[in-house]
Amino acid sequence: MLFRQPMIRDCFHCEPTSEDPSDRPKVIRFGSFYRRSDSRFIQRFKCTECSRTFSHATFSAAYRQKKRQFNHTLRGILCGGFSQNRAAKVLGLNRKTIARKVIYLGELGALEIEGLNKMLPRAAVLEFDDLETIEHTKCKPLAVSVGVEYKTRRIVDLAVARMPAKGRLAKKAREKYGPRKDERKEARRELFTRLQTAVLPNALIKSDMSSHYTHDIRKYFPNAEHKVFKGRKACVVGQGELKKGGFDPIFSLNHTFAMFRDNLKCLVRKNWCTTKKPEMLVHRLMMYAAYHNTELIRRPAG
Ligand SMILES: [Zn+2]
Repeated sequence: MLFRQPMIRDCFHCEPTSEDPSDRPKVIRFGSFYRRSDSRFIQRFKCTECSRTFSHATFSAAYRQKKRQFNHTLRGILCGGFSQNRAAKVLGLNRKTIARKVIYLGELGALEIEGLNKMLPRAAVLEFDDLETIEHTKCKPLAVSVGVEYKTRRIVDLAVARMPAKGRLAKKAREKYGPRKDERKEARRELFTRLQTAVLPNALIKSDMSSHYTHDIRKYFPNAEHKVFKGRKACVVGQGELKKGGFDPIFSLNHTFAMFRDNLKCLVRKNWCTTKKPEMLVHRLMMYAAYHNTELIRRPAG
């Protein structure tokens, strides 16, 4: 049975020529088609002006996807510690399908995060830090800068940047892979620009001791109060992110980092399932951040 779907008034192809609605190209219903991947009938429309057709599916984010019925489950299991390959095996899909869906879910997640930031009141207390991970080898580290709202543990925004290896690996990494660009400054700048719309200008921003943020916070949030805390040793539980001994002043952030590491396979410590492309890591992180904000933490009141 065709559930009568709402009428679309404006042609998808024609440019709107006038403000007056009666003057616009007329659109009529033009049959329907059956979409096998989710067993639904979709209403088609035709423009009487240009004779071209479109449907409700044209405007869907999952337009032209053949395996859309797996999107929801896939997000759940990829945000639950599954690797992409195992997800492919369990769902009976190809690995390339999963990789394509990660991009789709990541873009959707980024939109969801943006929407939440617009809808919810701006964060009054923000905890900020970098999570370190790698791109295929420890010689190619990546920094993930994350801002988390205090108490609610909502992920406000994040950014990924390449950085050169430090310490004992620095020399070996340069010999093997050549000099590596440090993108952290640039990424942090973009992140802080976005954060300006999601965090109160006079917010309290908490971070650990790193001279990098101090400068940026002062620049982008001149009226904010910035409190720094000394880093501490990790305790046994909590994926090396939860800290030993008593009260942790940036607990909301460290707990969120521990959840990142526990729930995203590519971030697990001492892992053999690593990030291969930083762009894909961004998609996975955005997918997780949206899932975290909407499904894992308690919904903020109001
Ligand atoms: Zn038209």
